[in-house]
Parts: sequence; structure tokens; C-alpha cells
Amino acid sequence: MKTCRCCGKKELQLLIDFGMQPVAHRLLDSKEQEDDFTHPLCLYYCENCGFVQIDNPIAPEQLYTQYNYCFSGWKKQPHIPAEIELLNRHIGNKDINILEIGCNDGVFLDPLRKAGYKNVIGIEANPYAAKVAEGVGFKILNVMFNKRSAEEIQEQYNGFDMVIMRQVVEHIEDLRGLFESLDLILNGEKLLFIEVPDFGEALRSGDCSTIWEEHPNYFTYNILEFLLNTKGYKVLEKDFYDFSGGAICVLAKKEKTAIANVKKDMTAYNNFANVVNNYAVKLKSALRNAHEKGIKVFLYGTGARACTLINGLGIEEIDCAIDDQKEKQNHYMPGSHLPILSLEKVSDSADKKVFLLAVNHENEEMVSKKILLHNNAKNVKIISLFAPNDIFKEVEKVEELL
Ligand SMILES: [Zn+2]
Repeated sequence: MKTCRCCGKKELQLLIDFGMQPVAHRLLDSKEQEDDFTHPLCLYYCENCGFVQIDNPIAPEQLYTQYNYCFSGWKKQPHIPAEIELLNRHIGNKDINILEIGCNDGVFLDPLRKAGYKNVIGIEANPYAAKVAEGVGFKILNVMFNKRSAEEIQEQYNGFDMVIMRQVVEHIEDLRGLFESLDLILNGEKLLFIEVPDFGEALRSGDCSTIWEEHPNYFTYNILEFLLNTKGYKVLEKDFYDFSGGAICVLAKKEKTAIANVKKDMTAYNNFANVVNNYAVKLKSALRNAHEKGIKVFLYGTGARACTLINGLGIEEIDCAIDDQKEKQNHYMPGSHLPILSLEKVSDSADKKVFLLAVNHENEEMVSKKILLHNNAKNVKIISLFAPNDIFKEVEKVEELL
């Protein structure tokens, strides 16, 4: 039996099994080309502690070396000011030493510095992103964060009062190693600021699209708090943001007195696979009805969430995919092998059309406007595929076009 990455007990239960899946970012050059690498995508939860996880994630060398890893510069993060304010509420002395692990191109270091935090250093393993951050004047260590580099960093810098990890912890398979390495470098205030994707909304709504081979770990707030408590951290403040499918952030402090209480979302776990399955049946049937009436079906957005949803649920009733990113156009999606075109390419006919929106919530309004600008609103239905929308209700809009 498989072992829980959080508590070490052999009590993992299957949450959902997608079978063999391609790597979401590996687009194909032709429809006939085969996916060069597939892997079992299976999500489990731990009956003992509630932690949600992929049990056997792809090795980082396999995952991150074969394509150009996108870094953050292109993605807007409107919740950053709220996070800085959260920090300001708790940190009196802005001279504290801060280390950001996975600082990317400096997207958070920059507003930190502007807010008056002077002693900030970043760690970034991606050399391209590290160079961008260095270019705007930050001290960046271009290393992987692990015990060995933590020891060297400790020797050189004599520790940090606060460590920041934004959209990092969900990628890390060796959680025990991570927290042991943090223990080596955290001293003084011993603050930890973490942002992770929120799996809670997905559990509630039956949206499986945030399950992705690059994320071995899935956090609801309860799971995150439990993990932090077991490692000796107490949460000082938490917040939730509508960013990229939902994000949780917490500021926590290492204390001797932190007590870990398991708070399992058992009902949600038990329902999840059924709700996801019901959704797949409903969506397929609606799209099949549309096809029978000659209505064209387009998938708008070809990122990791779109890939999981289409391939994981086996949605075959789609004519083609659309993406605004020019580098993706004229390629094919992995798994489904759907051709990727520009919106302009599919907009010239008078056909009735269904657009399945596979973009993050914060971008939906902008994309919908763009679709309606290019198409007659009477002939078009726009259906959101992702939470926090009520994805079941969204599917019903297809009928209005029949
Ligand atoms: Zn466990």
C-alpha cells in the first residue's frame, strides 16, 4: 500500500483515477504525432490525516527539462497588494532578513522592496527567471533549495527571519526534506509566508481541472494548516484570492506550542469522484446534442487545466481549440490532439457555436467580450468549465442554442 507524504501512514485511498495522461505542456506538431510520454494520473487522500496527493509524481528532471518552462512575467497577479498588506499587519520591523524560495523573475520581491522591506534575497532554480530578477537589482541564488544548499545558505547569511514560498509547496514531493531544510535557515522571528492553489473550491464544485502532474500536493485550508501545525508552525493570518483557480495564503510562525488537529473534509472526498463523473456525463451529452443540430463546439484555452479536463474526462465532442498565445497556434493539444487555432480563424462563418471557456476566472470576462466582438451574440453560447462558476448550471446554457 502507498504511503502518505504528510503523516507517513499507509492509509491512502483513491480519490479519482484519470488513467494514462500526457504531459499538459507538450504540444504536438501534427495531429498524427504520438504523445512521447504518458503517465498514470491518480489522486489519493489519506484516511489518517486527510492530505490529498498524487502518489507517484513524475521526476522533476523528466518534467522540467524537455520544454521551455514559462515563468511568471506574463501572468498578472492582482492579489499581490493584499498579500503585502497582510505582511504589513504583522511585521513591525521592516529590516528583518527575508528569503523568497522560488522567487521567479522577482514578481513578489519587487513589491516587497517597494513596501520598504530592504533585506530581501531570492532563490530561483530556473536560470532565465533568475537572470531577469538579477537584472532589476536583486540578489538571487541560482540553486535548487534542498538540505545541502540550505546549509551553505545558512553559513553564508546566518539565517532569515522570514521565508516566502508562493506557488511552490504544491510542487514539492519531499515535504519532510523541505521543512527540515527550512529549520536550518529560519531564526529570529521564524515567519513563514506561503501561497498555494486552493483545492477546496474544486472539491466543493466537482471541478477536477486543477489536478496536474506538476502538483503532487493539493491543499484545502484545513490540509495546509494541518501540515504547518505538524511541522511546528502556528497560523497567524490566512486569506483567499480569486487567482488562477483560487489561492490560499497564510502567514505562520514557528512555535514550540503548535498543536496539530486533523480536520478531514471527508464528505467532500467521498462525493468528489461521483460529482466529477456526473459532470462528465452531463457535459458530453449536451455537446453531443449540439453536434447533432450542426452546432460547432470550441475549447477556448489550452493550458494544463484544459488538458486535464478534456483528456481526464474523455470529452471528445469538440471541433477545435483556440488560444490567444501565438506560439501555441497551429500546434495540437497533447492527448486529445485537437488543433489549436486563433479566434479569428473560427469566427468568419454564420454557424451556431458553443465556446467552452477553459481560462481562469479572472480572465473570463475579457475573453467573453472578445468572443462576442467576433461573433453574433444570438448564435453563440459561452460555457465556463472551471470553478468558482457553478459548472453544472453552465452546461445547461447549451440547450438555449438548440
Ligand atoms: Zn496522512
